[in-house]
Amino acid sequence: MGTDSRCEMERSMLSPEARQKFDELVALLTREKYGPRGLSRETTFAEMEWFAHQAGRMLGRAMDEDLAIQQAEEHFQESCCPTCGASGESDVVESMKTRPLQTLDGKILLAERVFRCPTCCRDFFPSADGVGD
Ligand SMILES: [Zn+2]
Repeated sequence: MGTDSRCEMERSMLSPEARQKFDELVALLTREKYGPRGLSRETTFAEMEWFAHQAGRMLGRAMDEDLAIQQAEEHFQESCCPTCGASGESDVVESMKTRPLQTLDGKILLAERVFRCPTCCRDFFPSADGVGD
């Protein structure tokens, strides 16, 4: 894929406002790394590339966490206790917990609804057979 088509695809992913904020984020991250005076003459392309790659992975993990929280909050899913079968509708109490998950970009804390069955005093994830297992 050539540079032109890559740029075109990235532009179409973002609104002009989002594109501007994205560019600001890029500038912020490079300033954080190299200071207000920028790169030294000795900085190699391999060093720049490695930093950019790590920043991309950091962004990927942050997005994974954010999207998982949104999904856990927006898509309530009724659940039954796997031990006694009590249903989420009646007496199973839910809360939100996080658990570590290995993603393509490294470890994140995945937010999920967790249910506690008052009969068994057992915590369980309704999506235990879903993401990450
Ligand atoms: Zn139970």
